Amino acid sequence: MTGIILGSHGIMLYFLWCLDLDPTHSWMPNMFTVTTYLGFVVFQAVLAVVLPGVSTKGLPLPGKKDKKESTQLTYLCNGLCTWYVTLATVAALYYFNLFKISWVVEELGRFMITAMVFGDVVSALVYVWGILAQENIRMTGNHVYDFFMGSILNPRIGTLDLKMFAEIRISWILLWLLTLSSAVKQYEELGYITHSMILILIAQGLYTNACMKGEECIPTTWDIFYEKFGWMLIFWNFAGVPFLYTMQSYYICTNQIEISSTAFVVLMIVLLGAYYVWDTANSQKNRFRMQRRGTYIERKWAFPQLPWGTLEKPEYMTTKAGSCLLVDGWWGIARKIHYTADLTMALVWGLSCGFGSFIPYLYFFFFLTHLVHRVTRDMQRCAKKYGEDWEEYCRRVPWIFIPYVY
Ligand code: NDP
Repeated sequence: MTGIILGSHGIMLYFLWCLDLDPTHSWMPNMFTVTTYLGFVVFQAVLAVVLPGVSTKGLPLPGKKDKKESTQLTYLCNGLCTWYVTLATVAALYYFNLFKISWVVEELGRFMITAMVFGDVVSALVYVWGILAQENIRMTGNHVYDFFMGSILNPRIGTLDLKMFAEIRISWILLWLLTLSSAVKQYEELGYITHSMILILIAQGLYTNACMKGEECIPTTWDIFYEKFGWMLIFWNFAGVPFLYTMQSYYICTNQIEISSTAFVVLMIVLLGAYYVWDTANSQKNRFRMQRRGTYIERKWAFPQLPWGTLEKPEYMTTKAGSCLLVDGWWGIARKIHYTADLTMALVWGLSCGFGSFIPYLYFFFFLTHLVHRVTRDMQRCAKKYGEDWEEYCRRVPWIFIPYVY
């Protein structure tokens, strides 16, 4: 765990060093980067509490069954409204010359290190909080391991759920703002933005928008109901995801990368196709499960609502474990086709930069390793949870990633 913690810092600094073409540029956080980063976090926290949205319940929490308190938490999902208000605020600040979003990429090193230090400090504070709160969920007694995995499941300040907040509001909104910063910087320098930059803006914009429009499906995911809020989630959401996953846009901006119109059109088609599969596969399963639980909320105005996102009277298996397994829609074609689509989008992010460097492909390879590890853990968990029913499900849907291939 110590190696992963140090290695994560090392890899971020290494890629920053690869990208930072000006050797005289200091990376030391300063008052501007600290106040801007903290200002963004506080602004998001305020929006998360005050803006309107839909309320949904999480799953019964593990480890709380013996306590008298409610085992299901309520989440206010106002991500979409927050996303739009944030975009309008960034545009207004730029228009009135109060804060130019391009300043962020100009001070990328300082901002990245500010975020890393913030992630580490919050991890330490939340770890102590968990110990003092004595939740004692899956604690091993090994401080390094427990610090890495966390000591508390769902820390909250008032109604603000810190884990949901970090996972959705900070990582993905910040990610797109960092890419926007690179795009605006490129526009200021060239007077236009390249096809490469347009592609990455759309690709990451679609991804961020999807996280916001489907936010009410997130409280029932593994990260929220099972993973503790430890260094792994805190550091990666406050620093790793937004700063490392946007290497493509810094690379395009610093090297003024361009791709041909043909490559742009082909990559756009692949991107939109993969996005369609990913979005509808996730919504098919989530809506199916929510309908069965009676928690489904129809959000027609959450753009875009795609055809086949909800299955009418789908075929499913009932299991002895209680939950139902969908064997219809994308889930009847392959068990993890949404991972394949997600990886395809990650590859397009890299391809938008051409073949001049390995750096833009880091996200794809990192994500590939992450998802392969996740699939393995998930299959083991499902095999244990569903037993014979899982074997039957695997017989009915034999393909994992690509039908007739694997
Ligand atoms: P899944 O959406 O595949 O969820 C897995 C769980 O769904 C299983 O544990 C099981 O849980 C349930 N399940 C499995 N098969 C079925 C079925 N046929 N019908 C109904 N329920 C089923 O995985 P994730 O939560 O990991 O991923 C969700 C999305 O998030 C994916 O699209 C993924 O690509 C993306 N993602 C993105 C990341 C990023 O950093 N960009 C990181 C991780 C994920 P149960 O016990 O409830 O049955």
